[in-house]
Amino acid sequence: MKESYLVLLLGTNLGDRISNLTIAKSKLEEFLGSIEISSKIYQTSAWGKTDQNAFLNQIVVINYTGYCLTALDRILSIEAELGRIRNEKWGERVIDIDILFFGDRIISESRLQVPHPYLHLRNFTLQPLKEIGEQWVHPKLGKTIVELCCECPDTLAVEIFDF
Ligand code: AMP
Repeated sequence: MKESYLVLLLGTNLGDRISNLTIAKSKLEEFLGSIEISSKIYQTSAWGKTDQNAFLNQIVVINYTGYCLTALDRILSIEAELGRIRNEKWGERVIDIDILFFGDRIISESRLQVPHPYLHLRNFTLQPLKEIGEQWVHPKLGKTIVELCCECPDTLAVEIFDF
């Protein structure tokens, strides 16, 4: 993977989910840089809490050359602007944006861990990652995305969302 690739996972399960993704992507392009690669949109039942709307997820890859913590701050502002309510772990959300990878960097700060610490445990992250970068190697685990998919214990179904 290119050093400048900032790989982000977008998730939404409230309101007009397609519109939430569209607005988030245009704000990411405005504040972080151009989107070079986008996965298809995938639908998954809510993870960790099953009595809520299904999630839509999409991965975008941005060409980004700044600091990762600056990217996180901009992402948090975009989430806030889109009206995310932070009231409940695994709760409903207009938009959630996670940093999955930033090139091959390993970042371990109190408010930022990259690669994302749960990415290898979740099908809704691995399936779209497989679509766009099946041979990318997780810099901490030393395994390709395909290998991580085979080993992933998560059984929730993840389907391509047609709209
Ligand atoms: P959540 O919205 O539950 O995913 O948590 C958001 C918080 O997780 C942010 O305020 C970050 O400080 C922290 N965080 C740690 N690592 C990451 C990451 N790789 N991507 C996004 N947020 C992260």
